[in-house]
Amino acid sequence: MTGFPTAARAALADAQLRRNLGKATTAIRAKRAAAVAELDDWEALRDAGAAIKARALATLPEQLERLEANVTRAGGTVQWARDGAEACAIVARIAEAHGTRELIKVKSLATDEIGLNEALARRGISAIETDLAELIVQLAADEPSHILVPAIHLNRAEIAALFERTIARGQRLGLEPSAIAEAARRHLREQFLSVPVAVSGANFGVAETGSIGVVESEGNGRMCTTLPQVLITLMGIEKVLPEWRDLEVMLQLLPRSSTAERMNPYTSIWTGVREHDGPREFHLVLLDGGRTDVLADEVGRQALRCIRCSACLNVCPVYSRTGGHAYESVYPGPIGAILTPQLRGLDRAPTLPWASSLCGACYEVCPVKIDIPTVLVHLRARVVREAKSRWSPERLAMDALARVFATRSRYERAQRLARLGNGPIAQLPGPLSGWTAMRELPGVPKESFREWWRHR
Ligand code: SF4
Repeated sequence: MTGFPTAARAALADAQLRRNLGKATTAIRAKRAAAVAELDDWEALRDAGAAIKARALATLPEQLERLEANVTRAGGTVQWARDGAEACAIVARIAEAHGTRELIKVKSLATDEIGLNEALARRGISAIETDLAELIVQLAADEPSHILVPAIHLNRAEIAALFERTIARGQRLGLEPSAIAEAARRHLREQFLSVPVAVSGANFGVAETGSIGVVESEGNGRMCTTLPQVLITLMGIEKVLPEWRDLEVMLQLLPRSSTAERMNPYTSIWTGVREHDGPREFHLVLLDGGRTDVLADEVGRQALRCIRCSACLNVCPVYSRTGGHAYESVYPGPIGAILTPQLRGLDRAPTLPWASSLCGACYEVCPVKIDIPTVLVHLRARVVREAKSRWSPERLAMDALARVFATRSRYERAQRLARLGNGPIAQLPGPLSGWTAMRELPGVPKESFREWWRHR
């Protein structure tokens, strides 16, 4: 972790990355706006989505116990993981119990968050990504840079070259998208038909019925949740929805906000196990991983309403220039700026709440009405408060200013002193230089308002 300012500087220096990002985010933004404009009741849907998630969070223990009971009743097994290490160990134990050294994966941010692939690799188990973009990132030994489009930072030529070096085994693919996709398709078909254990995340877990839902666009998720003998789902505890009817709202909000589609191409929903139909074993791993700490923060807890649509990333003026890697987390963009510091602890990501211009565009598009700017300001205040005991130039400067502003006589004396300086200040010394790096400090006027008032 280098912190957002340093990581962003490196990203901004990459002209190709900025071109790729600019093109992709502009296109997605326009499509989403058109898809949302088709619905007269979009604002009412957003209100409903926010209310459903708020209810789920306010009654979280009850909903999770309902979910556990109903998954178990339908023949599934539920295990609880306090943190990523526990969750990884559970998944590895299940894979080992079935004697496999390989498993296939549906795209899942929760598994990326806990470093599941790396943890499994340390136990000699390979996790094969089956989502096209995740596969690209895995083959390139890279990191995802967008929630929905993990390889948004790579263009077609870069991906074709990567496939030629890896899964196409030297075969020339050219730049035709269908030829590039065909190489991935052939590679993945073999995995779907031969690997016995699959791991998925969950977009929703319905407490009322014990059903788990995964939405995706490529059909790879459908293959993973139906073909293998064993299915393991890792679900963050905030993904629970109280009732089946809540899906009516969520399945309208999510596709229009994420891929700008009216309906999601593949929506897989399963409830436990069923003889001669789909996997013979189903394991649900419920992950806390810092979420109950987030829930304890009255302002910050709304971040748990997120349905990972990525609409806030595509409208963010900061994200669309730096890309996702600068956030040093699987959750980039505005949602990452409020979720990562809360999940990891503010001391481990103290610069992220400042990775925003506070323009409010993220709040306007969020389908579950997360007031990201308010949470950002709240987290900034927490960072400053929690750093109170630590020495910082900003803190020293603020203490000095507080003394100057405390009395009128001190304030006027300071004004007279400052007037001795000459014109605008282009660069402040030492640690204060950061302030003047992007702006000029105006000089103090020859006469203050009070002096002007007095002599008139
Ligand atoms: S914060 Fe809102 S807009 Fe951003 S990814 Fe989450 S649900 Fe989507």
